[in-house]
Amino acid sequence: MTQENHIEDAEYQAEKALKERPRFSIRSRLLLGFMLFFILSAAAELTAIITLHRLEEKTRFLVIADRYTYEIQQARRFEKNFFLYQTDLQYVFDHVGPAESLMNSNSQELRSVLGDDNYIVLNAHLEKYKELLFQLAAIDTVLPENAETRMSEIENELRQYGSQMITFALQLSERELDTVRSMFRWAKLLPLIFLVFFLILVIYMANFLFRQINRPLSRLMELTERIAEGDLTPITPFRKYRDEFSNVNMALNHMIHELKRRQELMIESHKLRAIGTLTAGIAHELNNPLNNITLTAAVLEEDYENISDEQRLELVRDLVKEAQRSERIVRNLLGFARKSEIETKHLDISDLIAETLKLAQNQVNLKGVKVTTSIPVNLPKIHGDRQQLNQVFLNLILNALDAIDKNGKLNITAETTSMFDFITIKFTDNGSGIPHHILPSIFDPFFTTKPTRRGTGLGLSVSKGIIEEHGGNITVESEVGTGTTFIISLPIARIPAEFK
Ligand code: ADP
Repeated sequence: MTQENHIEDAEYQAEKALKERPRFSIRSRLLLGFMLFFILSAAAELTAIITLHRLEEKTRFLVIADRYTYEIQQARRFEKNFFLYQTDLQYVFDHVGPAESLMNSNSQELRSVLGDDNYIVLNAHLEKYKELLFQLAAIDTVLPENAETRMSEIENELRQYGSQMITFALQLSERELDTVRSMFRWAKLLPLIFLVFFLILVIYMANFLFRQINRPLSRLMELTERIAEGDLTPITPFRKYRDEFSNVNMALNHMIHELKRRQELMIESHKLRAIGTLTAGIAHELNNPLNNITLTAAVLEEDYENISDEQRLELVRDLVKEAQRSERIVRNLLGFARKSEIETKHLDISDLIAETLKLAQNQVNLKGVKVTTSIPVNLPKIHGDRQQLNQVFLNLILNALDAIDKNGKLNITAETTSMFDFITIKFTDNGSGIPHHILPSIFDPFFTTKPTRRGTGLGLSVSKGIIEEHGGNITVESEVGTGTTFIISLPIARIPAEFK
C-alpha cells in the first residue's frame, strides 16, 4: 500500500470511527441533568405534601379520639353515679350516643389511621357497652326478683368494658401521638436531607459539565495546536458517545484533508516552476548531443562509401552514445516531473545530492558556478521520499544560483550531529545574502523578491513543509554581501533488523 493510500484509509477510518459511535448529545446530557434536578425537587415537594397530609389526618384523629375518650369518660362517670346514687341511666346514654356517632361518622378516617382490626375492636367494645346498658335499663321491669344479682353482674361487666374502652382509646391516642411526634421530627429533618442530595447533585453536575464541555474544549485546543504545528494525522474519537464535539472533529478532519490537498497542490505547482527552469537548461543541454548526432549522421551519409567498415561502426557507436546521453537527460527530467506518489525508503544523502546536482547541472554550467561537495562516505541513511527531498535540494541549489554572480561558489556538506541522531546538510553560497528584515518572511508562502515571472515564492515554504513532514527542520543563516547557508536536519533512519 502506498503512503497516499494509507493516508486516505486513515482519514476514512477516522471518519467512520467518529460517526459510528452511539449518539448522545451534550444537549441530551444537560437535559438529563436538569431532569434529575426536577425529579429530586418533585420528590422533595411530594414528600412534604404527603407528610403534611398525613399529619393533618393524624391530628384529626387525635381530636376525634380526644372527644371519644371524653364521651366515654363522662358515660362512665354517670354509670358510677347510677350505681352509687341511682341517678338516671339516660345520662349515660347521652354520652354513649355521641361517642357512637363519632365512630360512625368518622369510620373511614378511623379505619385508615387505626387499621381495620383496631377499629373493629373499638366498635365491638362500644357495642358491648351499649348492650349492657340496655340490659341494665330493662332489669327492674323484666326480672325484679333477680334484679340485685343481675345488676351487680352487669356492673362488673360494664366496669370491665368501660375501662378496657378507655385504656384502648388512650393507648391508640398515645401511639398516634408518638407517630405525629416522629413525623414532625422527620418533617424537620427532610429539608436537610434533600439539601444534602441537592448539594451532591450540584457538585456532580458541575463536574459533569466540566468533563462534557471543558475537557473536549481543551482537547480541541491541543488538536488545533497540533495541526498548526503541521501534524495532519486525522482526529480519532476519544470518547464513547458521539456528540456536538464529534461534529467539530469531523469538520476539523475535513479541514485537515483540505490542508493536505492544498499542500500537495503547492508542492506540485512549485515543482512545475522548477521544471520550467530546468527545461530551459535541459533544452540547452540537449542541444549538444543532438548537434553531435546531426553532424555524425551527416558525415555518415556523405562519406558512407569512402570510409572503412571500422570507421562506419565507430560513427554509429558515437550516434548511439549521444542518443543515450539525450535519453538520460530527458529521463532525469521526466523522473522529477512525474506525479509523485509518496513512497518512503531508506535513502543515501550523497546519492540524493548527486542526483539533484545532475538535474541542475546545466544551470550550474550556464552560471559558471563552482559546486563543491563534502559528504563522508559512510554517512548513515535517512528515511524519506526521494522525489520530495530531490525537490527540496533542487530548490536550494536553484535559489543559490539565482543569488550568486558569475563565478560564485556553492558548497554542499553533510555530517551527523554530535548525538548521532540527525544528519545536517548545509548549502552555503557566496551570493548576495538575505537582508535581515526579510529573513523572517522567506519561508512564508508566496514571499518572493524575484520578478513575477521568475519567482513564485513557494520554494522555501514547500521545502519547509517537506522537511518537517520528514521529522526534520530547515533554518537559514545569512549575511548581506557574504552569502547564505541553508541548514537542513533530517533524522537518521533507525534501521529495522531486516534492513541490516
Ligand atoms: P522564490 O525562489 O520563488 O522567490 P523561495 O520561497 O524559494 O521563492 O524564496 C523566497 C525568497 O528567499 C527569494 O525570493 C529570495 O529573496 C530569498 N532567498 C532564498 N534563497 C536565497 C539565497 N540562497 N540567497 C539569497 N536569497 C535567497
